[in-house]
Amino acid sequence: MYFDSKTRLLVVAAHPDDEVLGCGGTLVKAIEAGAQIAVIFLGEGVSSRFPVGEYNSPEFAQQTAQRKKEAESALEILGIERVRYGKMLCTQFDTHPLLSIVKEIEKEMESFQPTVLFTHNPSEVNIDHRITYEAVEVACRPTRKWIPKEIYTFEIICSGGWKFNPYFKPNIFVDISQYWDKKMEAWHCYEGEARPFPFPRSNEGLKTLANYRGMAVGVEKAEAFCLVRLVV
Ligand SMILES: [Zn+2]
Repeated sequence: MYFDSKTRLLVVAAHPDDEVLGCGGTLVKAIEAGAQIAVIFLGEGVSSRFPVGEYNSPEFAQQTAQRKKEAESALEILGIERVRYGKMLCTQFDTHPLLSIVKEIEKEMESFQPTVLFTHNPSEVNIDHRITYEAVEVACRPTRKWIPKEIYTFEIICSGGWKFNPYFKPNIFVDISQYWDKKMEAWHCYEGEARPFPFPRSNEGLKTLANYRGMAVGVEKAEAFCLVRLVV
């Protein structure tokens, strides 16, 4: 993983907040090195808090709008301007044909022409994260014109940590010690997502994971990735 002004990095995330949790520090580092970044959120991130099917209330509309605002603020802090918001409901990606999700990703790949792609890893409890990974795998079949040559998966605290038999085995570690404050600043835009420790998405929880990944490679804080494809 190397970033410079020729890097075009596409982040394919299921929900607003996954970009910060999974790779926020790395994105800031990439931008500093001159990379262009685009983010696509395939779905929204609040409907799982509502009873299934009850999405017509003003409260739902308000929370959805709020989450979009939070994402805009977080991306502004990270320094990302290019973003697309999908409409799939949170934890219901399985109600859509995989092909429709694949086509969304293909559309973005064709227009942005990424050299590097970040997405979810499949060892996650959240079904949207798993389906996003599967859709990226299909979208990146090498029969298409614009396929990123480097593809990495990231981890989402909670969803990954709560897996019965986790199998995410990172082999790439990005030192984000210098970018930690920026990551946390962006994270704090997503007000409704944090809860007190020992909930993993707490300040202490996030720091614990960053320190744990950092310890594996002798740095203070790291984000961990798995390289799933590299074409040289
Ligand atoms: Zn998510």
